[in-house]
Amino acid sequence: MTNTILLVEDEDALTSYLIPELQYENYQVILAKDGQEALNLYDNNRGNLDLIILDWMLPKLDGLEVLRRIRKNDDIPVIMMTARDYVGDKVAGLDSGADDYITKPFEIEELLARIRVLLRHKENKGQRSDLYTVQDLTLNTKSRQVTRGNNIIQLTQREYELLLTLIKHAGETLTRDELLDSVWGVDFEGQPNVVDVYIRYLRNKVDRSFPTQLIHTVRGIGYVLTANYKE
Ligand code: CA
Repeated sequence: MTNTILLVEDEDALTSYLIPELQYENYQVILAKDGQEALNLYDNNRGNLDLIILDWMLPKLDGLEVLRRIRKNDDIPVIMMTARDYVGDKVAGLDSGADDYITKPFEIEELLARIRVLLRHKENKGQRSDLYTVQDLTLNTKSRQVTRGNNIIQLTQREYELLLTLIKHAGETLTRDELLDSVWGVDFEGQPNVVDVYIRYLRNKVDRSFPTQLIHTVRGIGYVLTANYKE
């Protein structure tokens, strides 16, 4: 099986060296030369991509912003690449969801080793379509198991369905009506505020004992599940 890597880097000297090396290791490489192109190619190839190598300094959108947008609803492995070696940058990259970090100049063997580690890790997590992840929250539709960090979270059937709807649309605001239709069915004849009640149950289990809140109220509209909520 061939793994596909999205390489995001604007320096020709580096890409003309990296691409043949990656291809020699049997990776298929898609090249983006700026941040906007990276997001476009990511959207168009989403189902096929296995890993992203993302430079920090890029035209149009920088690597950190590209990473933040991708991380809204995808846990694809990302290696950040940078010429800078400030601890602050490394922290910002990892905080924004980079899985690993490599400082230029680097040995190709080091990059290849990091790629192998992340791809192996990803395969161990199983089929992508079975697993939804937002930050440290995961929902596995095969085992129906929900975890946050190392904690297994026990949910009732209704809570599970509600969380599944939210996590499938992570980063999108869903209205109460949309949640009602999806979780309780279009024929539901009870009070719409049942959604608010179940959101409260869910928050108690999924968010309350954790530092980052993932379920957010969008006033007047509904709810959104995301790790990067801006008021
Ligand atoms: Ca660059």
